[in-house]
Amino acid sequence: RHVCCCTRQQRRLLNHFISQIPNTKHDPPHPSPPPPTAHLPSPPSTFTLAVKDNIAATSQPTTCASSFLATYHSPFEATIITQLRARGARLIGKTNLDEFGMGSHSTHSAAGPTGKTGETAVPYSAGGSSGGSAAAVAAGEVDLALGTDTGGSVRLPAAYCGVVGFKPSYGMVSRFGVVPYANSLDTVGFLAAATGTATGTGTGGGTGGGTGTRSGVERIREIIVGDNDGEGGKKWLAGLWQEHDPQDPTSLSVAARTRCAKQRVGYGSGDASKQRDHGEVLKGLKFGLPLEYNIAELEPGIRDAWAGAARILQDRYGALVVPVSLPTTKQALAAYYVIAPAEASSNLAKYDGIRYGQRDTDAASDAAGGVLYAASRGKGFGDEVKRRILLGSYTLSSEAMDNYFIRAQRVRRLVRRDFNRVFALDNPLHERETFDLTELDESIAMEDKWGPEEVDFLLCPTAPTLAPRLADVMSQTPVDAYMNDVFTVPASLAGLPAISIPMSVSLGSEDVPTPGPRAAGLQLIGQYWDDARLLAVSDAVL
Ligand code: GLN
Repeated sequence: RHVCCCTRQQRRLLNHFISQIPNTKHDPPHPSPPPPTAHLPSPPSTFTLAVKDNIAATSQPTTCASSFLATYHSPFEATIITQLRARGARLIGKTNLDEFGMGSHSTHSAAGPTGKTGETAVPYSAGGSSGGSAAAVAAGEVDLALGTDTGGSVRLPAAYCGVVGFKPSYGMVSRFGVVPYANSLDTVGFLAAATGTATGTGTGGGTGGGTGTRSGVERIREIIVGDNDGEGGKKWLAGLWQEHDPQDPTSLSVAARTRCAKQRVGYGSGDASKQRDHGEVLKGLKFGLPLEYNIAELEPGIRDAWAGAARILQDRYGALVVPVSLPTTKQALAAYYVIAPAEASSNLAKYDGIRYGQRDTDAASDAAGGVLYAASRGKGFGDEVKRRILLGSYTLSSEAMDNYFIRAQRVRRLVRRDFNRVFALDNPLHERETFDLTELDESIAMEDKWGPEEVDFLLCPTAPTLAPRLADVMSQTPVDAYMNDVFTVPASLAGLPAISIPMSVSLGSEDVPTPGPRAAGLQLIGQYWDDARLLAVSDAVL
């Protein structure tokens, strides 16, 4: 017989408490409020979606391309997937990546490298770390793919695979259910084909699909900004910019979103960003070419294509193109490779084979003295992840902290200030700063700066080279691989929206085998929360 010493009143209370405890077998650990999109009418068409495997889905494992999480099934779904489902997405698969998002070629994966096969049989790097998502889009397997962009992981693969890759403003898109790499930099990003794909593609179609084509940028813009006119004047699609997620502490609050949107065009009605006439969208806009991006290592074909794009904007569309200076560009890459591994080393501490991650069962019987931790981590993580953990643990150690982490944070502030200085729009999150040269670190030379010239967008290449051959990537040093991110990390450090769109490159036959990759990425960077205009302008530039 069940013996209990509580009073009936106490027992009732106890039962009440017990009923509040989630049954972890079936319930997500953090029951979520219904997403704001839940009550929207059904979308007019469906589209196929692939998701980078560091974003949690319930239908398939979430491995982060790590042997540590080879058998991990998330009990809950990432908010972004739920939000996209409400907008007609049909998740058809997870995609390969560099383990936990650390890498630039999608080669550091427990599943093996992602290859992009060109017209010949020579496989080229698909870029990283969202290489699987970019390759899936480039192969026409999906209409839209999700990636994550911490320092360029959506833009770089987009450039290498000849597709569109968009990184929204930091804090706009929910990261709940996205496995963190470096929290202060991580954003969810979107990849889609540059040219039009039929709406409602794929088997199973959609409720009213097949109505014409739309470019990848247009599809992404509808998701971010919302479709205020809707097809046939029916408003059904709310923009993600409106959706604060209480489960993501870095998701911008509703009040801040409203404040930011008030300072920007393209959100809500009277939507100037929806101009269809490209000439009208681009006329009179000012584009800045950052001089510091014209580095010696820039492949000549990419430099020419960049200059060609600027010329077309000016001559054909009546935009203004001016040189600008972002003097902290050189230091940005070094700062990134201090800050990102530091945050990663802290984030990855939880994978120990006990709380998270696959346990090394051989070591389990000898659990004393941290053997279990060391053995599980030794087996679970790949080499690149271990390198980042060592790097991060060192730069955060008491003897190195001031020299590395603190200095890197200072550089990060300067990078942000560089951007705020060249954009005509203010950053709604910061007070307008007066630019005081005396405050700067002396090592950051300022003498030869141009400007300040105030511009609407920055125009630059996404990466200094075309996609390298996978065979060459394998023999690269880690520092060579980190160099690929030189043009993408500044916008990440400042939390700004940035997009890579394909630009074709004509090549000298000695440089690159023919046929080989001919698409490089043209990157446009906008001021914080200027995503709507950035997407409209990119669609016009395409
Ligand atoms: N290549 C960069 C890195 O390895 C960027 C990665 C990313 O954006 N996830 O850190």
